[in-house]
Amino acid sequence: MLRKLREFDYLEPSSLSEAVSLLDHHGKDARIFAGGTDLLVTMKKGELNPRYLIDIKGIPGQDYIRYDEKEGLRIGALTTIRQIETSRVIQESFLPLAQAARALGSIQIRNRATIGGNLCNASPAADTAPPLLALDAAVKSVGSQGERVLPLERFFVGPGSTVLDKEILTEIIIPHPTLHTQGVYLSISRRRAVDLALVGVAVVAILDPDKGEWKAVKIALGAVAPTPVRAHHAEKVLEGKSMDAGLIEEAALIASEKETYCISDVRASDWYRKEMVRVLVQRALEHVSQITQEAHR
Ligand SMILES: Cc1cc2nc3c(=O)[nH]c(=O)nc-3n(C[C@H](O)[C@H](O)[C@H](O)COP(=O)(O)OP(=O)(O)OC[C@H]3O[C@@H](n4cnc5c(N)ncnc54)[C@H](O)[C@@H]3O)c2cc1C
Repeated sequence: MLRKLREFDYLEPSSLSEAVSLLDHHGKDARIFAGGTDLLVTMKKGELNPRYLIDIKGIPGQDYIRYDEKEGLRIGALTTIRQIETSRVIQESFLPLAQAARALGSIQIRNRATIGGNLCNASPAADTAPPLLALDAAVKSVGSQGERVLPLERFFVGPGSTVLDKEILTEIIIPHPTLHTQGVYLSISRRRAVDLALVGVAVVAILDPDKGEWKAVKIALGAVAPTPVRAHHAEKVLEGKSMDAGLIEEAALIASEKETYCISDVRASDWYRKEMVRVLVQRALEHVSQITQEAHR
């Protein structure tokens, strides 16, 4: 049952620097408010009762998608999931991210939810996290000590927790993909459209179609550990090796057995989640290898 919201002060800074100083001043009593699609639900459940809400949605210039070959892709933290889903450059060159955006919630949620909120909420099941990990994304944040950029892989600490310390996430940076890079995001959830992923798998691979080899492979998993994770052991099975079916099966098995710390809950058992990791990793690897071969013919 939803409880009545406790009283809070609603603050509306007009610049990032003002938001940073409010966050610095109010510390743990304050929460950043972006789309509010996670935060309001948590507050209504009574799980979080911030004294101050710092609404950053009105700060101009923080919702952008910029791309060039040198700098790669830069996404402002306040960019909505719907903007990502419908961006032509993301659909064409960073497909797993577009696929993850399409899988997130309903269209009403995607119109409101931001990519920064999806990462900062730090749910192990956050849909945009696996593709961003597989795409080698970095995140930029700002606090009273200035700006810092760190790899997304070092951003998540545990369920609901990140390395941010009185800081605001401002930008997601994804390097320009090299030639013959292919990727895909696959997820399963229960049948209702707004259910969170039970398992999410992103694969981004650079393949050498002439030699028939995996040059580099990045595999990331969602909802199967306390944070979204890269499957490094499984990646090593493939890197520098030929694109044969046996190796794909071996990598998928290793991802399922060595890289997951699944739990059983009301949504699925740990056995089922592990099995789905094996199935989805295998499907994703087969898919990228197949499209590379087809494009090369
Ligand atoms: C019905 C429903 C269905 C959903 N389905 C999915 C789904 O399928 N997949 C999925 O991944 N998620 C889903 N969600 C969760 C949610 O919509 C996403 O996580 C969304 O992207 C959160 O973004 P937001 O802007 O609304 O974040 P908010 O709710 O505003 O914030 C979330 C958290 O991040 C912090 N935060 C936000 N922005 C910043 C920032 N720039 N810097 C520092 N901290 C910040 C806030 O303080 C808060 O703790 C669903 C939610 C609902 C209500």
